[in-house]
Order: sequence, then structure tokens, then C-alpha cells
Amino acid sequence: MKKIEEYVRSIPDFPEEGIIFRDVTSILQDADGLHLAIDELQKTLEGLDFDVVVGPESRGFIFGVPIAYNLHKAFVPVRKKGKLPCETVELEYDLEYGSAVIEMHKDAVRPGQRVVIIDDLIATGGTIEAIIKLVEQLGGEVVKISFLMELAGLNGREKLKGYNVESVICYE
Ligand code: 5GP
Repeated sequence: MKKIEEYVRSIPDFPEEGIIFRDVTSILQDADGLHLAIDELQKTLEGLDFDVVVGPESRGFIFGVPIAYNLHKAFVPVRKKGKLPCETVELEYDLEYGSAVIEMHKDAVRPGQRVVIIDDLIATGGTIEAIIKLVEQLGGEVVKISFLMELAGLNGREKLKGYNVESVICYE
């Protein structure tokens, strides 16, 4: 059986020169790859007591929803500004390349709920740091943050000190 690493396609100079983009579509387009990715990510939550999976647009949806479904938990999407129809909380943050504003519905996480954040990849950690702030602003407690891939050289974990962080694959 192939390892999950073997399904990841690495693309040099995308979306900008000097960046090696770790492509998840090459995992998803293979039935075994997709199964393995969901299973491996889900294993990071074994034995954990929580209420809600929060996942950022758009690859956080791909991995977050099947895991929430499998474990019978709620799923809350974090979206780019302007996409959510009801009252939101929002935050602007820096990306590895550029900046962005993200939003969550105000009623999506209730005070005291135990939250797991799932995304495909951590680079600088800016996205997840912003999501943590939004979840905590709503009174949620972030009990775990799981990634399929980590670009360790970008030190994203530094921004997530004090949180329970786990990644399935780590690139230096
Ligand atoms: P960060 O905020 O940690 O710098 O960036 C992480 C976000 O950017 C994630 O939502 C992720 O989807 C996206 N991202 C950054 N670099 C890559 C990459 O090499 N591959 C993939 N699949 N996503 C990336």
C-alpha cells in the first residue's frame, strides 16, 4: 500500500517563484489516496472529546466535512469575506503570499463548545491563528488543530504555541 506522501504532487514556482506548492488534488483524484488522507487525519482526533469541526475555505472543507460526518460532529465553515449570509465575525490576516479577510457566522460556535480546526496545510500559520481568534471571540475552546501537511521551515507552529497541534506529513 502506498504511503500518503506518495500521493502528494509538488509543484515548483506555484503560485509564485520560489514556492513549492504541495498539491492535494493528486491525493483526492485517487480513491485510495482520498481514503488514506481522511483516515490518517481522523486518527489525530482519536479519543478526543469535542463538539465542532471548523474548517477554512476551501481545502479545509474537503477534509473537515468527512471527518465531522464520520464522528457525528457539527461542521462550521470559515469563508472569505462576503460569502456568508448572516451576521459574522471577521478578521484580516497575512498569508504566505498576500493578505485575506475571513469570516464565520456569529452563531456557528457557541460559548463553551470544544472545537477542532482542520486544514490541508500549515505554512506560516497565519490562517489558523486568525481562525483561533475568531473561535475564541465566540467563546469556543480550541482543543486540537490537525493538518494533513506541515511546511515546518515556515515555523507556523510558533504562532500556535500552547495549542494541541498535529500534522500527518511534515516537510522541512
Ligand atoms: P498559512 O496561513 O499557514 O501561511 O497558509 C496556509 C493556507 O494556505 C492553507 O489554507 C493552505 O490551503 C494554503 N497553502 C499555502 N501553501 C500551500 C501549499 O503549498 N499547498 C497547499 N495545498 N495549500 C497551501
